[in-house]
Amino acid sequence: MKCERCGKEYPSRYYFKTKTICRECFPKLSETEKERAMQPPPMHGLTTTAFTIDGYRIVESFGVVRGIIVRSRSIFGTIGASLQTIFGGNITLFSELCEQTREEAFEMMVSHAEERGANAVIGVRYDATEIMQGVTEVLCYGTAVLVEATSTKKR
Ligand SMILES: [Zn+2]
Repeated sequence: MKCERCGKEYPSRYYFKTKTICRECFPKLSETEKERAMQPPPMHGLTTTAFTIDGYRIVESFGVVRGIIVRSRSIFGTIGASLQTIFGGNITLFSELCEQTREEAFEMMVSHAEERGANAVIGVRYDATEIMQGVTEVLCYGTAVLVEATSTKKR
């Protein structure tokens, strides 16, 4: 990967602010050049459960990326033996920790996507499986893609 402006060689698209301009060069561009280079927003803004992204078109697909976090129940706070009694009652703490675990799985998936040179993940899904008693696997997966903005004036 070579930057169009400075000619520097980079290992992946991750270092690029746009398809051809590196992160270092981008701030030096004029407003019109920036407009023209119109890059997709940062990764987190470009993850979706849908298979298309409004205002962008998919230029390349890198296949399925996933993030897996395995948690034992003991990590889920101080719930321990009282878990069963809490169940059905106040499960806020439990759901918060699930949420945190999902977030970690999500982050892992995103970094795998970035490693492949993707700037978006589509069709994002979550899955949680109890692989053995007290051990839960949280899986987050999606399709890593490279997108580029279609006409900005369209919307
Ligand atoms: Zn550059």
